Amino acid sequence: MDSSARARVEAWLKYGEELGLGPYFRDRAPILTAAANADAEPAAAPEIALAAKASPAETRSAASSAAPIAGASLPIISAALGPTLFEAAERVAGETLEDIRADIGDCTRCRLHKARKKLVFGVGNPKAELVFVGEGPGHDEDVQGEPFVGRAGKLLTQMIEAMSLRREDVYICNVVKCRPPENRLPEKDEIATCSPFLLRQLASIQPKVICCLGACSAQTLLATNQGISRYRGEWFDFRGSKLIATYHPAYLLRNPAAKGEVWKDLQKVMAVLGLQPKKR
Ligand code: SF4
Repeated sequence: MDSSARARVEAWLKYGEELGLGPYFRDRAPILTAAANADAEPAAAPEIALAAKASPAETRSAASSAAPIAGASLPIISAALGPTLFEAAERVAGETLEDIRADIGDCTRCRLHKARKKLVFGVGNPKAELVFVGEGPGHDEDVQGEPFVGRAGKLLTQMIEAMSLRREDVYICNVVKCRPPENRLPEKDEIATCSPFLLRQLASIQPKVICCLGACSAQTLLATNQGISRYRGEWFDFRGSKLIATYHPAYLLRNPAAKGEVWKDLQKVMAVLGLQPKKR
């Protein structure tokens, strides 16, 4: 490093120390070393399994967005090296669903609280082997405070019963706990604010299988922006659980022809859980 560059770096370090950021530089040193090593042999990120399904161009694009910026002289740290914000926010060892609900309280953490009637936390068996994760409450759910109780909810109940289960055997929840106005999709910042509670619910329940209903929950848990049709019906590992994504029951109400595809996905879930189809 030439003397003028060294002088600039030293000035920045001194500035950081004056701001009380000295430990920042020391604490990140091992991570930066790991980042340098990662350039030679990139660490596998959780999204890699999905990226493998993408086209070569998409895979290149995904890899370039996740990797440290080549040639950058500032301490750019690869997200793959440490816990994500989601993971960091969800780690509360041994907590129960009641603990999580109490922590949410009368939540005003994002704008969705403004129009909600009832916060919709989740319902079902706290030790369920199977958890269904939807997108967010609709009108009926907002009124009743329970997920999947409208027309789409009735269809989900039929799907559960066709699997030889009862609604109370499984756990049902959503990515966001408050109804987005006009049934719009939840915004990214709303998902980012609310989804740590979902992750804590899943960590508390520790189900064998997580079944994502629709693109919003699948994209949130798989940390991808790829459309659900690219990976629907495929298995992924998610923190000790098996995860599969299928179409949302509301989509099936609009496109009944897709029910066959969903039933195939549910049969895969049944095989993992050792369930036999309900006899008619
Ligand atoms: Fe809080 Fe989630 Fe409701 Fe937003 S959607 S207000 S984060 S509970």
